[in-house]
Amino acid sequence: MKKLVQSAKLFALIALCSSAPCTLARQDATPGQPAPAPNHYTLVRCGTLLAVPGQPAKAKQTVVIKNGIIDSVLDGFDGPNVRAEQVAPIIDEIDLREQYVLPGLIDCHVHLTMEFDASLRMRDLLESDGFLALRATTYARKNLDAGFTTVRDLGSGRAQVILDVRDAIKAGFVVGPRVVAAGHAISITGGHGDGTTGFREGLFAMPNPEGGIADGPDECRKAVRNQIKLGADVIKVTATGGVLSAAKAGLAQQYFDDELEAIVTTAHSLQRKVAAHAHGVDGINAAIKAGVDSIEHGTYLDDDSIALFKGRNCYHVPTLLASATVAANAEVSGFYLPQVAEKARLVAPKSIEMFRKSHEAGVKIAFGTDTGVSPHGQNAREFALMVKGGMTPSEAIRSATIVASQLLGLEKEIGTIETGKAGDLIAVKGDPTQDITELERVTCVVKGGVHIPPSSPR
Ligand SMILES: [Zn+2]
Repeated sequence: MKKLVQSAKLFALIALCSSAPCTLARQDATPGQPAPAPNHYTLVRCGTLLAVPGQPAKAKQTVVIKNGIIDSVLDGFDGPNVRAEQVAPIIDEIDLREQYVLPGLIDCHVHLTMEFDASLRMRDLLESDGFLALRATTYARKNLDAGFTTVRDLGSGRAQVILDVRDAIKAGFVVGPRVVAAGHAISITGGHGDGTTGFREGLFAMPNPEGGIADGPDECRKAVRNQIKLGADVIKVTATGGVLSAAKAGLAQQYFDDELEAIVTTAHSLQRKVAAHAHGVDGINAAIKAGVDSIEHGTYLDDDSIALFKGRNCYHVPTLLASATVAANAEVSGFYLPQVAEKARLVAPKSIEMFRKSHEAGVKIAFGTDTGVSPHGQNAREFALMVKGGMTPSEAIRSATIVASQLLGLEKEIGTIETGKAGDLIAVKGDPTQDITELERVTCVVKGGVHIPPSSPR
């Protein structure tokens, strides 16, 4: 009888708030109980739940999140009898009974300290670190609002800024996605990661290994060690030329084999993975042979690259959205420097073809967009491009959840909605395994069991 009353109260509560797409109600703790700290429950009632992408979704499920961690996933909408706990619990209830719920998305390649447009080079000269950090928190929030509860930042011109933004989010000072950050990318002098390229001689001090610009194995080791000393979670190396740097140096291999090997062995010895930016095939293959954990872009990969990817357990992060974005912007007069527009026109037509080849061969593909090249918050546009390149919607969702969590080494914490994992989930109105563009219209975001209202109207 007691249980019936509790259920009736619970449903009465839900009935009050079932009209909005993402509705949250809170029942205050029972008064008169002495401290210890109460347990915080979030009960998420899901019309359809895709708990483990790749497995069938289930109807009418309740996800129980306790103190930010998934406690259980239950059939039906009743939920557990958490009010019977000895310590008065705090209970949030999120009504997604009309929605399709899936794990929080993961983007393995973003740049939170930049958003590319014609004024970026000038802004970078004028803006202080403090201003840039504030800018980055706004961009970070847009990623979270779009359903990306975890992002990997693969290189900021100012390492300390992105590492501080990561830590401020972790500390709860600002709302944003979980950030895995590389600090400054490791690049050759004048290479893709050297932001002083293209300016007149003498304007800047000579870039150095401490700042991520390194030549020769010894400097490369120092550069890696210094990023890790600053607090980098992962090492990013620019193995080849890049599209958006000012260098007129093509897209071929930039680091020699011994330098790549020095970077990878140093990073691995300090328990950090290595992500290699690579377009040209010689650079892709050299980086995989050196032992990098992922190739970012991979534009000109060939059959040897495919064999290397599979033989060395290396992930491919194709960033199709970046290619599509630079191709469109290259046609806008003055958007890019002439040498950049020329590279953009070369790369874009190759990207879908490269993706199809990699996917069909069974290479592990982790979702990544290079957002910052494209506007923040549009990350989910990558999904439709992946489906255009031959993935099923279900495979694309796995790529942005389970596969991405494995690349980040966070598969025990995120990527599925299962007991013991972080309470990160999102909702959409329709079934994204039928129409992948549903993921471009996220209706609700929950991170660590906390409902995140959108920072601006959806
Ligand atoms: Zn990038």
